[in-house]
Amino acid sequence: MNFIIPYAVPNRQRTPALCGVSLDGEIGARYDRFAYERLSSPFAVKEILCEAEECIRDKYDDELAQGLWRGEFWGKQILSAVRVCRQKNDEALKEAIRTSCHRILAMQDGDGYIGSYRDGASILPADRERCIREVGWGSMYNWNVWGQKYTLWALLESAMLLDDRRILAAAARLADQLIRRLRQTGVALREAGVMHGMAACSIMKPMLILYRLTGERSYYDLCLGTAADWARPDGAMPNLIANALSGRSPARWYPLGDYSLGGWTSKAYEMMSCFDGLLELYRVSGDGTYLAAAERFWDAVRRDETNILGSVGYCERFWMAASYPDAATEVCDVVHWMRLCHELFCLTGEAKYMDAFERAFLNAFLAGVYEDGRTGAFFVRSAGRHWTAEPQVETKYQHCCLNNAARGFVNAAESVMTRCESGYRVNLYVPARIRFGETSFRISSGYTDRGEVTVTIRGASAGERLQLRVPDWSAVTRIGVVGGEERTAEAVDGYVTVPLDGADTVLRLRFDMTPEVIDFRGEYKNLPSDDYHVQRWIDGGGGLCDRRQMAAHPISVIRRGPVMLARTKRLGASEEMFGEESVCGHGAACTARVIRHDRMLTACRVSLTADGRTRELLMCDVASAVGRDTEDPRFFSMYV
Ligand SMILES: [Zn+2]
Repeated sequence: MNFIIPYAVPNRQRTPALCGVSLDGEIGARYDRFAYERLSSPFAVKEILCEAEECIRDKYDDELAQGLWRGEFWGKQILSAVRVCRQKNDEALKEAIRTSCHRILAMQDGDGYIGSYRDGASILPADRERCIREVGWGSMYNWNVWGQKYTLWALLESAMLLDDRRILAAAARLADQLIRRLRQTGVALREAGVMHGMAACSIMKPMLILYRLTGERSYYDLCLGTAADWARPDGAMPNLIANALSGRSPARWYPLGDYSLGGWTSKAYEMMSCFDGLLELYRVSGDGTYLAAAERFWDAVRRDETNILGSVGYCERFWMAASYPDAATEVCDVVHWMRLCHELFCLTGEAKYMDAFERAFLNAFLAGVYEDGRTGAFFVRSAGRHWTAEPQVETKYQHCCLNNAARGFVNAAESVMTRCESGYRVNLYVPARIRFGETSFRISSGYTDRGEVTVTIRGASAGERLQLRVPDWSAVTRIGVVGGEERTAEAVDGYVTVPLDGADTVLRLRFDMTPEVIDFRGEYKNLPSDDYHVQRWIDGGGGLCDRRQMAAHPISVIRRGPVMLARTKRLGASEEMFGEESVCGHGAACTARVIRHDRMLTACRVSLTADGRTRELLMCDVASAVGRDTEDPRFFSMYV
C-alpha cells in the first residue's frame, strides 16, 4: 500500500527500516521482556488485547455525563503491536493484529462510527453541572474523538502492515463520520472533547496519514482548518501556533489556577500530541510556519519544563517544572516528549533534539518500565517510589502509559542511527545492531557504565562518511580506530565526522564521565499546596506520593555521563538518604568508581565531598533504582 500524496518536505534524516534494527544489552533485554509480556505473549494477545477490544464493543464510556477514555486502549495497544511487529518481524503477532482488526471492523456502526461511546455523535465537553452532580467535580470530560484518534491511527498502521484495503476503507468511514458530525453541528475540533480541544485536535496526525493514503481532500481540509484555528487573533484556546510563536512557556499561556477553565490549559501529553500532528502537516503542506511553531514550542519546553528525570512537565502539566527540585512525570509525557524530539530531529538534523531524547530515554522512560516486563509506572518520581500503573477505568489490564510504552522503545530503536546526504549518523549509544542495505553497524554496550563504546562498521563504500554525536554533557570526547591512535573529537554542530575507506572498521569512543553535582535551589513557588493536581497525585491515593518525600527545599543531584544517579534499597541504602542535610550550596564535588552490578545500566561508589567532609555512597542509574512495584514509600532517592 503506497502513499498517493507525497511529502512536500521530506525528512532530512532518514531512519533505517525497523526490521534492520535490534536493541542489545540490558536495554534490549528490557525491551524484549516488555514487548513479549504486554504485546506478543499468548496472554497479551488473548487477555490484554481482547479486553481492549471489549472496551469498544461494550460502549460504557458515556454511561455518565462525564465520558471516559476506554476507547483509547485498543488503538494504543495495536499501534504498539504494529511497530513491534515490524521491528521483530513477528508473524504470529501480525496474525493477531489482523484478527483483532477484523473483529473491530465487525463493530463498526452503519454510519461508520467505531468507538467506546453509545452515542457516537457525542463530541462536546460534558455538562459541568451534571458532572458535579454525578461524579463530584466539574471534569467536563468527553474523550470520544480522542479514542477515535487512536482507533483511526491503529487501523491505518494495520492496513499498511497487512496491505489490507478493507481496513483502510473502514478507517476512512470512521473519519467521514466524524467530519460529517463536525459539519452538521458547526463545531470546530478545538471546541470538541476535553482539555480545550487539544485531545480532539490531536487527530490531525492520523487524518494526514489517511489523506496521504487516499488523496481525499476533506481529511486535509480538516487539518488545515484546525491549524488556522490555532493562530487566532482573538487568542481563543488552545491557539497553539500563536502561543508557541510567542516563545513564552506553555505554563504562561493561560492562567493555570483558574479552575473555571478546568485546570487543563497546559496538559502536556495532549499538547505535545498536537505538535506531533503539526509537524506532519508541515511535511505535507510545506508551510514553514508549522515547523517554526513546533521549534519554538520545543525550545520553551526544553528551557522551562525539563525536570531532573529528563522528562518534561510536573504532574502531567507544564508548570515551570525546570524550577522544581522534585520531579513527578507521567510516562505518557516522556513517550511524547521523546517523539517530539525524534520528529524534530528527523526534520532538522539538529543534535540538541537527540541530546534531549537521550536524557529522557535513559532516565525517565526506562525508570517507567519495570524489570518483570509486565508492569511499569504511571508517574516516575525523583524520590520515594514510583506510582505504579494500576489498571484504569475498571479494566483488568489497560493503562494509558503501559499501552503506550512499547512505542518509546521503538522510537529509540529508530533514533539510534539515521542517514542523510552527508552520511550515516550515530545519534544514540544504545547497544544495537543496525543495517542500511548492505552496510551494517554494531554499537557495543558500555556507554552508561564505563563511558566507552565501540562502533563496528561493515560493508560501507569508500568515500562514505560516518558522523557520531558528541553528547552535550561530555567535556572531552576521544575517538580513534581500535588499536590505533586516539584524538580529541572535534564536533561540528554536535557531530564528529569520520571518513570511511570501505574496509571493515572498529571505532572506539571515550566520553568524559566526570560526575557533576548539580544544585537545585528552586522551590514550589508555582505549586500551591491546595491545587487539585497536587492533591490528586501527591497527597491522594493513600499517600502513594507522600509529600514528605518531596524535596520542597534546595537539594543537589548527581549526573554521571548521560544518567542521573540515585541511592536505593536495591543497593542496601538506609533511611539516612531521607533525613540528612543536603550538600546544596556547600560547593560539593564528587568522584565515582564503577562497581560490579547486575541488570542495571550502571552502579558506582561515589565519594562526595562537601565542607571538608567526605562520604561514600553506593549509587546506580535512576532508571534501575526501583524497577518494581514497591509498597515502600522510602525506597530510593536522587537527592544528596
Ligand atoms: Zn499515561
